[in-house]
Amino acid sequence: MSFSHIYGHEQKIKILKSTLAQKRMAHAYLFSGMEAIGKRTLAIELVKAINCDRADDLHDACDECASCRKIAKGSHPDVYPVHAEGQYIRIDAVRQMQERTRCKPLEAKKRAFIIDDADRMNEASANALLKMLEEPSAVNILILVTARPASLPQTILSRCQQMRFNPLSAETVARFLRTKMNLDEQRAGLLAALSGGSIGNALELNNEDIIAYRTELLDLLSRTDRNNPFSLIDLASFLGSKKKEIGHGLHMMNSFFRDMLIVKEVGGNKMLINRDYDALIAACAERLSGEQILHNIEQIEKAGAIIEQNVNKSLTLEAMAFKLNY
Ligand SMILES: [Zn+2]
Repeated sequence: MSFSHIYGHEQKIKILKSTLAQKRMAHAYLFSGMEAIGKRTLAIELVKAINCDRADDLHDACDECASCRKIAKGSHPDVYPVHAEGQYIRIDAVRQMQERTRCKPLEAKKRAFIIDDADRMNEASANALLKMLEEPSAVNILILVTARPASLPQTILSRCQQMRFNPLSAETVARFLRTKMNLDEQRAGLLAALSGGSIGNALELNNEDIIAYRTELLDLLSRTDRNNPFSLIDLASFLGSKKKEIGHGLHMMNSFFRDMLIVKEVGGNKMLINRDYDALIAACAERLSGEQILHNIEQIEKAGAIIEQNVNKSLTLEAMAFKLNY
């Protein structure tokens, strides 16, 4: 694998390649963005590219030299993954990093530490890491990876070159599912639309009986009636009480209303995510105006954002159910 095998993040890769070409790598990076979108994979590719025997020509990993192969296998003596043990990244792990920086790298041009879930440092570990960041060295590079950059102390953030990764586009996730997982176009499209832009989410959904869940949800949705408050509460409680399930359910509802808009504005069923429900979608599109459908999409997105902030979930879902047009 090299940069060219990474799904999405084209802009970030372009920046990193030009930094490599100009030999202006920062001594510490912070890769942030939602879980499972390829931040860590990109960190490893960057370390490969920095240390590749052919890096000067390629500004990318060749995947063939000894350095590239060792890093890919996880057996390079100068590349250290750092993880949380239990709840925290322990102070011992950071001290060990400090210890290692005292001598020259054994083989690498730059010794690399890739710190996963970097936000999971307690105060002692964070202070020790800060010391390392305050004494940068040309032969070491630190890459902090996190989905929660706001949980890191400002003193650490300000000493890292920050790169914020966006969720992947649905098309990128679908392409991954088609080419790497051999899924058919329909399933790949559905999972991608529900993944929120995360390959990890899509793979997780692929293991669940997502089709049965969708059947149940769409069935319930088609029976929901604004004049029957019980049906609204049924819908809200079906969407579940766990944050993750709610996310899946809301993405699914969103894809349903998005399909309705497409039927209304473009016609045909080619571009539909839920193509197998085209008759139901067309019937609903007939009943609702474009404005009402847009209102629904907005309300669903709003509810999703509120739930992300850990506000009362069932209350939020019920409020949303009462505001939608059916
Ligand atoms: Zn190489």
